[in-house]
Amino acid sequence: MKITIQVMIEDDAMPQAAKAGVISIERSVEDLRPETLGLKLDEAKEILAEIQTVLVTAQATRFQERQCSCPDCRTPYQKNGTHQLTFRTLFGTIKLTSQRFYACSCHQAKIRRQGQKQLSFSPLAKLLLERTAPEFLYLQTKWVAVMSYGRTAELLEKRSSTATLSGHVQQVATRVDGELGEEQCSFIEGCPQEWEKLPEPAEPLVMGIDGGYVHAREGQNHKAGFFEIIVGKSMTGEQSSKRFGFVNTYDTKSKRRVYEALKSQGMQMNQQVIFLSDGGDDVRNLQLYLSPFAEHILDWFHITMRLTVLGQLTKGVALRPEVTGKKKMQPRFEQDEEEPSPSIPTLEELEHQLERIKWYLWHGNVFRALQVGEDLEEDLDLPEQKNVTIQKMLQAVREFNGYITANEHYIVNYGDRYRNGETISTAFVESTVNEVISKRFVKKQQMRWTKEGAHGLLQVRIQVLNDELQQTFSSWYPGMSETPIATENDKAA
Ligand SMILES: [Zn+2]
Repeated sequence: MKITIQVMIEDDAMPQAAKAGVISIERSVEDLRPETLGLKLDEAKEILAEIQTVLVTAQATRFQERQCSCPDCRTPYQKNGTHQLTFRTLFGTIKLTSQRFYACSCHQAKIRRQGQKQLSFSPLAKLLLERTAPEFLYLQTKWVAVMSYGRTAELLEKRSSTATLSGHVQQVATRVDGELGEEQCSFIEGCPQEWEKLPEPAEPLVMGIDGGYVHAREGQNHKAGFFEIIVGKSMTGEQSSKRFGFVNTYDTKSKRRVYEALKSQGMQMNQQVIFLSDGGDDVRNLQLYLSPFAEHILDWFHITMRLTVLGQLTKGVALRPEVTGKKKMQPRFEQDEEEPSPSIPTLEELEHQLERIKWYLWHGNVFRALQVGEDLEEDLDLPEQKNVTIQKMLQAVREFNGYITANEHYIVNYGDRYRNGETISTAFVESTVNEVISKRFVKKQQMRWTKEGAHGLLQVRIQVLNDELQQTFSSWYPGMSETPIATENDKAA
């Protein structure tokens, strides 16, 4: 049995429908098996590719036919040869013949007056400035946002190289960034009288900001270190959350990004906005002058993480007597040198002090927390003790006290807030860092990034995570929205 598929092209301008032979499928009637019932994947692909070629070629031909005479004086253009043009689509790469025409004599004089040299042109090349179908570009960027360039290239059966894919991502990211408004020092609009007239605002917006690091790549330099990516997520009530992200030392519109994320969640100037972050100058400045009713809070989660690290160091200090114990095996040399000093605090004492610091901070009592912190510094600062673990612990305590001092204005009464059911922690931001950066940027240790490359991919990834990429593409290519190609199922993938 042989089945032949033919495409018929009907057009009012053509006297009769054109037939284009497509493809034949042969099946043995006697030997039907489950695997020969219906289309095979290869055949389906071949059919689609063939139809696509016929369709694209017919459309391009008809388009060029309509462009072959001067719209002003209706004189047919003189032909100036053809060239081949490659158009990449989801269903195959198509080579099109693009006709060049000489400019009409009625335009020549004008062209010469303007001092332009180009006297011939190609309508099809002018139409297809981008040689990739928007739908194909959309899928490429969407896939790259969630999996590696290599994996995406593989899924596309190597029809796009990783270099092409990364070029496309940059192209999309540049366009997205270009549409972002200008950077401003302040985004606060209006005055208190105007804010009072605004409708009753919704519940507070909670914006968490945090940073993560990715491996840098600078040409052939494989020891280029790291650079920081800052990400954030804003949440409010039932609405879906919005993320933003950028490469700190590359981006020029970071504050605008935060503002747009808040605005997309309907921020009003009279609405309370709570910023939660891990301190740090970059992040702190980022959140200033965005809302007149902003509250800036040092994230409790990060405080406890640092205290946990101190707790682990405490155990190291407490292990010290065992080290001395071992040395007793060689008493001749060591006995007189290092006697256990009674002034070293015990594990219980150290842990107790850390607990007190935590308790004071939980209640927003920075003054008392720092007092205990400084006491702890003194306890550990024993000139006669050159023990490495103690020095390490001392250093860590100093850093912690410095951290608390630098952020003292952002430390609140966490206990009170917690009891009132208010957000105190950016654990959700920690998961944002993981969601936005780790899952795509640091999966493998050997993944290295240029700042430009990371920033571009980040913009595309944020669009995908915020569920905005398709909307963006539809705004660029209005015809695309007729065929929704992103479904709820995609998000789950
Ligand atoms: Zn003309």
